[in-house]
Amino acid sequence: MKIAILGAGISGLALARFLVEGGLPRESLTLFEAGREVGGLCASKTIDGFTYDVTGGHILYSKDAAAMAWMKACAGGESAFVTRERHTKIRFGDRWVHYPFENGLGDLPPQANFDCLRGYIDAWHRRQVDGSKAPTQFGAWVRWRFGDGIAKHFMDPYNAKVWKRELDFLSSDWVAGRVPDAPVDDVLRASIGIRTEGYTHQSIFYYPRTGGFQAITDGIASTLLDRVRLSTRVGEVVRLREGWTVNGEHFDRVVSTLALTDLPSIVRDMPAAPAEAMRSLEYNSITCFLVALARPEHPALSWIYLPHPEQGPTNRVTYMSNYAPGMAPAGRSSLLCEVTHPGGAPAPGPELEREVLAGLESAGLLSRSEVLFTDRVTTRHAYVVFDSAYHARRKAAFDWLDSAGLVPLGRFGRFEYDNSDQCVIKARELASKLLRSAARG
Ligand SMILES: Cc1cc2nc3c(=O)[nH]c(=O)nc-3n(C[C@H](O)[C@H](O)[C@H](O)COP(=O)(O)OP(=O)(O)OC[C@H]3O[C@@H](n4cnc5c(N)ncnc54)[C@H](O)[C@@H]3O)c2cc1C
Repeated sequence: MKIAILGAGISGLALARFLVEGGLPRESLTLFEAGREVGGLCASKTIDGFTYDVTGGHILYSKDAAAMAWMKACAGGESAFVTRERHTKIRFGDRWVHYPFENGLGDLPPQANFDCLRGYIDAWHRRQVDGSKAPTQFGAWVRWRFGDGIAKHFMDPYNAKVWKRELDFLSSDWVAGRVPDAPVDDVLRASIGIRTEGYTHQSIFYYPRTGGFQAITDGIASTLLDRVRLSTRVGEVVRLREGWTVNGEHFDRVVSTLALTDLPSIVRDMPAAPAEAMRSLEYNSITCFLVALARPEHPALSWIYLPHPEQGPTNRVTYMSNYAPGMAPAGRSSLLCEVTHPGGAPAPGPELEREVLAGLESAGLLSRSEVLFTDRVTTRHAYVVFDSAYHARRKAAFDWLDSAGLVPLGRFGRFEYDNSDQCVIKARELASKLLRSAARG
């Protein structure tokens, strides 16, 4: 069975590796990768001794212990990773607010603390009294769940920065299980200054000792490099009576980790309805700026959120040089700033860098005299945007893919909010399925 895997990000690489580990002859696999290196969204870059993850700071953490152990083993085992405690905060004026926000109300100025507590209790009371169901629009859901104060002081401005859409354009179902749900007693305690922890998920995380997060995808790829065709963009996929061709070459099966939005222009003769559904799926792009600094160290932070417009366009800053010892040269440090923009829109111009630095300076995070240089990478597909049409469009896409026998995998191949560990888990499941089908002949 000849299998083509489109894309050599972590999903495509993990699938290939699981297939080979499961006994499929390596010669039966071909990975097509448009980039000059493997890794996709997990890629890292080193410039003048500063290493950064080009799609925003990545951490390794998984509820699936076997998947995480496999990722570590591929990249050199436990000793190739450092263990870090997660320290995350929200920058609010000149204050540091505990994350999640509702567990940090006591860190706010008194009036903002009152607004947030008042709104939280009102919302909680309304939910108890009228038993209202969660609204389906995200903006309304924020008020229903957190109240007006938290919406005004944090959720609205922060989400506006990340999603670049009216909040009611987004649907609320993607937040289920993602946005922490603090007990009301904890919020009351937090507001009067009794520390409550809140979100403990990922309180410990792992990071490669050297090479940035890409060390993980490099490790997975290390036994497969002869099977990966780098700098080879997939331009045409054609369905035949028996099998497929990819760029004119015959394969029995094709697994695609390419973004669904791109497939209609790659797969020949796709019917209009699924093609339109795929093209209309909403997503956001990201531009990440490395800021290399002359200062030797940072406070013990992992990453912080910048919710407010006066803090510039950045929504999240990763304290990149805190992740592992070799992330910056001795006596230097770095910050990594994430700025999102609507998917498909032109990449931001050079003025963005000035805005980012001015925002960081006004947030009190640096002085421009300390900046050695900046470097930026824009990634087109970064965030799936969950609007009200998401489920219908995705279903139309998947129904057609199923009927055609083209197998989707990966964050944008399946258009899901998956982290790298979930990509590995889904690749593992798919590999078992393909191995069973290969065994049946
Ligand atoms: C801001 C941000 C922060 C994140 N933080 C974390 C984190 O902390 N921890 C974590 O585990 N995960 C994190 N993730 C998620 C993680 O990056 C992704 O889940 C994962 O990298 C997706 O891998 P993939 O292989 O599915 O897709 P991709 O990495 O997108 O791989 C697809 C590959 O296909 C290639 N390709 C595209 N078009 C073509 C073509 N026409 N022909 C050939 N090749 C093509 C691309 O170059 C790419 O290499 C984060 C993501 C973002 C955006």
